[in-house]
Amino acid sequence: GVTAIARAADGRLAVTDTWGATRHFPAVLVTCQSWLLTTQIAVEESLFSQKLWMALDRTRYMQSSKTFVMVDRPFWKDVDPATGRDTMSMTLTDRLTRGTYLFDNGPDRPAVICLSYAWMSDALKMLPHSPEKRVQLALAALNKIYPDVDIASHIVGDPITISWEADPYFLGAFKGALPGHYRYNQRMYGHFMQDGLPAAERGIFLAGDDVSFTPAWVEGAVQTSLNAVWGIVHQLGGQCPADNPGPGERFPEIGPIALPE
Ligand SMILES: Cc1cc2nc3c(=O)[nH]c(=O)nc-3n(C[C@H](O)[C@H](O)[C@H](O)COP(=O)(O)OP(=O)(O)OC[C@H]3O[C@@H](n4cnc5c(N)ncnc54)[C@H](O)[C@@H]3O)c2cc1C
Repeated sequence: GVTAIARAADGRLAVTDTWGATRHFPAVLVTCQSWLLTTQIAVEESLFSQKLWMALDRTRYMQSSKTFVMVDRPFWKDVDPATGRDTMSMTLTDRLTRGTYLFDNGPDRPAVICLSYAWMSDALKMLPHSPEKRVQLALAALNKIYPDVDIASHIVGDPITISWEADPYFLGAFKGALPGHYRYNQRMYGHFMQDGLPAAERGIFLAGDDVSFTPAWVEGAVQTSLNAVWGIVHQLGGQCPADNPGPGERFPEIGPIALPE
């Protein structure tokens, strides 16, 4: 992992990794969650304006958790003689599991159940608990919905679970902007347009889920990467063909508008 980003004496950006090696680059593209720039990575403060730091720090992330178990076979496809329907299907509920998803890999082959995919308050209900306890909580909730299905008897192997907010390399699942955050989004999203920035703030670029206006959808991460790539190419002296303008050429015309300060 990256542990530090600073301005080197030669004017390039110095990137230091976990093993202490430092390499210099003319441009750096940062794609981790922005809170990591003040927790995991020592970023030289002068690389961003105070207004941009405020946007990076005030970015707000949503909690999310998932809990998976492996099962012996896709037993949910067994037809329930009483109803003529599958024993179990993808299940959305207000109970704490919220979303249960079923993944099969062919009949009679081991399969996977995502017992719970939850956000926010429901993810917080899982946060302090061990994988085993999370499975027990999910099974108890599903038992109220499917009282005649013994899911536990099909489980093989150890459960796998994740809470993104508990992962030191994420600190949250994805951005969930609050009312009033448009100006922060706009600053982060528009940062790849660097011609107007002081020299000290040029060369470091941002992209990814939390830079985008459509967080939690990978499309926004890809879009912001294309913007950043344009910014880097531009900084290195490259340009787009005149008949195929890039995001930077079109930005003044179709980019998100800046609000008055
Ligand atoms: C629970 C959940 C469900 C989602 N569901 C959907 C969906 O259904 N559809 C959809 O389109 N999108 C979905 N998304 C969103 C999608 O996953 C993201 O938009 C996409 O993964 C973002 O890509 P990224 O490259 O910006 O960041 P990430 O994929 O998050 O990559 C950032 C990387 O940076 C690494 N990193 C952190 N710190 C450092 C460091 N110091 N040094 C080096 N590396 C570091 C992290 O470990 C991570 O691998 C979901 C996201 C989550 C969390």
